[in-house]
Order: sequence, then structure tokens, then C-alpha cells
Amino acid sequence: MNTVSADPQLAEPYLLGWLASLGLDVDYVRAEGNTLYYLGASGEEIPVLDFAGGYGSLILGHNHPRITAYAQQLLASQTPVHAQFSRHPYANDVALALNRILQRELGTEENYSAIFANTGAEAVEAAVKHAELDRGLRLAELRTRLEENLAAARAAVAAGAGVAPEAYRLAGVDARDQAAGFEALAAAVTSRNAEQTARPPVLLTLEGGFHGKLVGSVQLTHNEGYRTPFAALATPARFIPANSPQALKNVLESERATVLDWVVDNGTVSLVEQNSPVFCAFVLEPIQGEGGIRVLSEEFAQEIQRACAEADCPVIVDEVQSGMGRSGDFLASSALGLVGDYYALAKSLGGGIAKTSVMLTRQSRYRSEFELVHSSTFAKDAFSCFISQKVLEILEADDGAAYRTVRERGAKLLGMLEAVRADFPDVVKDVRGRGLMLGLEFHDQSGSGSAAIRDSAPLLGYTVAGHLMREHRIRTFPTASAVNTLRFEPSLYLTDAEIDRLELGLRDTARLLRTHDGAGLTGT
Ligand code: PMP
Repeated sequence: MNTVSADPQLAEPYLLGWLASLGLDVDYVRAEGNTLYYLGASGEEIPVLDFAGGYGSLILGHNHPRITAYAQQLLASQTPVHAQFSRHPYANDVALALNRILQRELGTEENYSAIFANTGAEAVEAAVKHAELDRGLRLAELRTRLEENLAAARAAVAAGAGVAPEAYRLAGVDARDQAAGFEALAAAVTSRNAEQTARPPVLLTLEGGFHGKLVGSVQLTHNEGYRTPFAALATPARFIPANSPQALKNVLESERATVLDWVVDNGTVSLVEQNSPVFCAFVLEPIQGEGGIRVLSEEFAQEIQRACAEADCPVIVDEVQSGMGRSGDFLASSALGLVGDYYALAKSLGGGIAKTSVMLTRQSRYRSEFELVHSSTFAKDAFSCFISQKVLEILEADDGAAYRTVRERGAKLLGMLEAVRADFPDVVKDVRGRGLMLGLEFHDQSGSGSAAIRDSAPLLGYTVAGHLMREHRIRTFPTASAVNTLRFEPSLYLTDAEIDRLELGLRDTARLLRTHDGAGLTGT
């Protein structure tokens, strides 16, 4: 399957060894549409049907002809690619195109400002950073207002205004301090407010979520193996079980921060309790990808929206995997009736050849100060922006024919997966997803009659992926944090014949699992 080099392996040799043990260490030499090719023993091209779809980055397939032709044209015409700190009209064009789509899907007229980045995790972190900058600025505004209102209250007391007894109770000042008068109350309130406004940011996210593996974003990624070794490096998140409005309510209530603000009314000074901006953001995926292809329910999405609006907690919608038309809408969240304060897009935005991502912030939250404190050498480069424009043009052509195709192809693929499940309910636990973001979950195999299958149970999806590759020349992988679930994220050019091939592979796999045929499954 591969040419074995005598050179030392220095690029992730451990991972390579592990892939080799499963028969997944394939050396691909060419790719087109939903097919990757490696070279056989006589140098002939052997096709592999790709359902991993670049982990969601290939909604238009490998080397889409219009995209590669455009890329060649860009390079042949010596397009300036790295021209940082210049005008960048091509970046603005991408932002405009994205806004037209978002406004249509979200039914809003509000604009979203674009900050470009390079990867999904970076776009998520840019959104979190922006939300934190915004929180800091809101805190500063609040502190100034509290100081001004305290000065007004003090002046009113000096001019003879009374202090409402309720104010002492609210501030927790006891009767003896009441005798000390207004200044004792002011000191207590100021100290309480300082403590509340200094509280660290609270980041909320969902159990099962995946938002990247950088220092900040990995703390939003639920998978403990990825997250806990690095927990000391960044703010930990509060994880909320999906579809649990009560848990959401409890967390928002327990993390809430409040300040006491001064009010002078009708010759009396009193205090009112107000929210202090302790919530940095709620980060969520409308369809959890690496968590096992799980679609958030409409009710819960809207409950999050409502509860976050009440707590003034911005919502960051991570559409890195579910966006760019993969769900059958441009944004998977728009079908859930969710309107985010921020969006993160990546993967297919680069058309399978550029590495690019973007973070969008709704205008009413946008802080232009962010532009001076966040950047990357490679972000917003002309090559990526032009390719992104082309991707958006292809998706939007013919009144959104691409989205209709995703829905139609997705329904066909899902129908096949459901048929397999119906015939093998003892093996296939669930089938789910939307559009061309689908998952098939196997039942746990730790009780299999085959020792080989029992042994592979903790990483079952990878063993199945090895079998599909070896015996069927089909490439797919389990989702990163739920390894009993296989992902199917092909391009929208998926054919009926390709669906039929996958069906054969899956039925064969299900039969081997049903009959406890460990040798058949593991190829040993
Ligand atoms: N968010 C989601 C929802 C993802 O699926 C991923 C990648 N699987 C990321 C963020 C991270 O993207 P990247 O790998 O480009 O950093």
C-alpha cells in the first residue's frame, strides 16, 4: 500500500505507527471529488472513496475544478498574497458575501464584522478574546457609572437627603455601622462592588462539545483526554449537559455576579442590585461534530438564547464543522432559530485548498479596539480570501442549488444508514445528523463473543475504519470524542453509486460484528 522509506520518521511517528497497526497509514498521491488515490504495487492508482471529507472541510470535494483553476489563475497572475497592513478589498468582499447570506438566513438586517484567522480553533479563540475585551470594556463602563452615582449619592446626603434603611440591609451593613452613617455604607458597597467586578470570566459550553485544541479553545472542548493535561493554562469552562434547561438555569444562577448601584430619588438615597458582566460567552455547536454528530434541539437552542440574553451573556456559535452549507443550510444554527452574537467559520471556507477561517461579530457587540490587539501574519491573505469568495459563489449559485443538493443527498444517505440500522438493530445503536453531516453509532462491543472485537471495543470506530479501508477502499473515521460513532461528511457531489458502495461496506461490517467475527473485522 505504501512505499516504506528508510529515513527516520520525525513527523508524528507514534501516530503513524498507530495508523499502520489499523491499516490506515495510506499514502495518498491524488484526490478528486470524493475520491483519494494511492499507488498499488505496480504503480497503478487505487481509488479510495472518501467519507471523512477532510473532517468536514470538503463540502465541494477534493480539488474542485473551478477552485483549482481559479487558484492557478491567482498564482499565474502574481496576485500579492501577503500584503499585510494594506487595503484588502478582497477580505471585505468575503465579509459582504457572508453578511448577505447571514442576513437572509437569520432574517436580520444587522451587519456582522469579520475578523479573519487561519484555523477553526483560532476563529473560536478570536471570538472568545473579543467577548472578553467587550466584557472588560463593559466592566470599565460599569465601574465609572458606579463611581459617578456614588458621588451623586454622597452629594445628596451632604445636602440633607436620607438613606433608605433597605440600603443597609442590601449592603449587609449591621446596625452598629449604620450609626457610622453613609460613609460606612459607601465603604461596604464599594468593597462589595470591587470584589464582584473583579471576578474572573465565566465561559459556558456544552458537554460533548469540541471547539479546538489550542490553549484556550481546548478548555471548551469537553473530551477530558484533550483538555485536562492543559487545564492549568487557561480559564476552565462550565460544561452544561445538552438539552437540560434546568442545568443551564442553575449554572447561570450560581455564576451570576451583581453590583449595588446608587439611586437618588425624591430626597432619598437607595441601592439597586444589577448584573455585573461576569459571563464572557456561551460557546456551542449547533450540531456537535466530534462529540458524535449530535443535533442540538430547537427548544434547547432557543432556551440558551433566551437565558443568555437575560444574563447578558454573548453566544458564540461554532459553525466550524456544521457551517458552509454542510447541514443543508449555510448555518446549521439558523434552522434551530438561533441567532448568535458571534460565528466561527472555517474548514470548507477554504474550498479544500486554502487554510482560512473567520470570526463574525454582530455590529451591536462589535468593539473596533479589537482590530488593534488581534492579528496573524497569515490571516486575511489574498489567496484565501479569493478562494473563499469562489466557494461562497459556488454555494450561492442558482438560488442556493448547493444547499438543496446537500439536503437531497443527505436524505438519501441518511435513508441508507437508517435501512442498515433497521436490519442490524443489535449492532447499530443510532443514526443521526443533518444534511451531509451524518453519524452512525455502533453498540458497545465490550461484551462481544470475539476477543479481538472485545479488545478493540474502546476504539471501535478506528477498527471499523481499518476494515472499511482494507476490504472496501472506503475512508471514514469515528468522531474524535465519541469513537463508537462513524462520521459521514462527503461532498455534495455524492453519487448514488457511492452511497451503494458505503452500504455494502457497512452491511459487511455489521454482519462481522453480529457474528463476532473478529478475524474478519481486524484482518488478522
Ligand atoms: N470547532 C469545531 C466545531 C470543530 O469541529 C473543529 C475541528 N474539528 C474545530 C473547532 C477546530 O478547528 P481546527 O482543527 O481548524 O482548529
